[in-house]
Amino acid sequence: MLDPGHNGGNASHPDIIDKLVPAGNGTRKPCNTTGTATNAGYAEHAFNWDVALRVRTILRSDGITVVLTRPNDTGVGPCVNRRAEIGNDAHAAAVVSIHGDGSPTGYGFHIIRANDDDAGARTDAASTRLAADVHARMVSESGMTTATYAGSDGYDMRSDLAGLTLSLRPTIMVECGNMRDAGDATRMSSPYGRSRIAMAIASGISAFLAGH
Ligand code: ZN
Repeated sequence: MLDPGHNGGNASHPDIIDKLVPAGNGTRKPCNTTGTATNAGYAEHAFNWDVALRVRTILRSDGITVVLTRPNDTGVGPCVNRRAEIGNDAHAAAVVSIHGDGSPTGYGFHIIRANDDDAGARTDAASTRLAADVHARMVSESGMTTATYAGSDGYDMRSDLAGLTLSLRPTIMVECGNMRDAGDATRMSSPYGRSRIAMAIASGISAFLAGH
């Protein structure tokens, strides 16, 4: 399953996306958020959607079945807990959430997985392996470097992301780069840059699936 973060209609529907939903670990969070953008106004939801479609095309050509959490880039939501349910209901072999970050400083990609104590041991080991497989291809193929401002060496673990904590499947979130950084923004705004990122993510997913 590929989960392109956010959605194009979120910004105009705060009534829907601001509603609190179960986010795992006994917490509640807003249904969804608008996401970030480059300083030139290229929206994260559009980046996420474009990369997800590119990854889907590559995976499909390898005979891999791909489920998306949303059907287009003009709708609202779905809520973060619903996105996790979609992957669980599909018994996805791998769940990859695709995002761009918006930090005032720093650049580079990082891959987030749930903290070890958030999910069952069965998925923890697989999520760790999925993270390593995608990380390796991001380093070698994406044109992006590991993040200078978050996590460590392009890896991070968090307990506050519903898509990670509520997933029962091997799951990672890829923050492909920092859209507020000029260099990352240039790469992420160009079709060539996005094709390289998509190739890296798809290669990592394929490697992970082949390892079963
Ligand atoms: Zn995001």
